[in-house]
Amino acid sequence: MTVPDGAHDPRLAERLEVVRSAVSDAARAAGRAAGEITTIVVTKFHPASMVRELHRLGVRDMGESRHQDAAPKAAELAELALRWHFVGQLQSKKARAVLSYASTVHSVDRGSLVDALQAAGVEVEVFIQLNLTDDPARGGVGEAGLLSVTERVLAAPTLRLVGLMAVAPQGDDARRAFARVREAAERMRTLAPDATRLSMGMSDDFVAAIAEGATHLRIGSAITGKRPARA
Ligand SMILES: *Cc1c(COP(=O)(O)O)cnc(C)c1O
Repeated sequence: MTVPDGAHDPRLAERLEVVRSAVSDAARAAGRAAGEITTIVVTKFHPASMVRELHRLGVRDMGESRHQDAAPKAAELAELALRWHFVGQLQSKKARAVLSYASTVHSVDRGSLVDALQAAGVEVEVFIQLNLTDDPARGGVGEAGLLSVTERVLAAPTLRLVGLMAVAPQGDDARRAFARVREAAERMRTLAPDATRLSMGMSDDFVAAIAEGATHLRIGSAITGKRPARA
């Protein structure tokens, strides 16, 4: 299958509409207001033309996971009023460059990254990423380290801790995974009462995430279609 160029893909609007109504339905089913849920469209590896089209369709929150891919798009689209969310694993040496366009980083998981973000000297919203697996390569801090990373973020004046982020492990029951995130966030709020947001839920599991209180969904392929191969 060839990958459609976003600017000329009529199905992009259809898929966006399907996801928007599924989000509304899931919110209603959970007794929540759809307005309290932000859908971030993850456009990684798709061209700037698709981001432009999504903006035309009313999307303002864009998610990217790799700096080399995100930076040129953000530069090309600098005139659009977009919020860029960095959702991927972040090397400390790239922290400053990412903050030249991203207003929110969802993947803070260690003290050295907190220091690097702080050293950039710009205000940024951050989520701490929780790793729900035993594999450190997945990114995120384990539950045992969560409160110590929370303390590090709270001590960094340019970082505003807004919540907790996680990816549900493949093959696990997503609802149960997201319940763990909700409970971990409750513990985090004993130190950070303002960190009320939950960044969880992707194309295949956002309904379960909404049921467990997600405030920020990170949805890629269900809206963008199949991702091009990594460049
Ligand atoms: C790619 C990605 C997403 C979106 O994934 P889909 O399954 O395409 O919806 C969400 N979160 C992170 C961290 C990602 O890297």
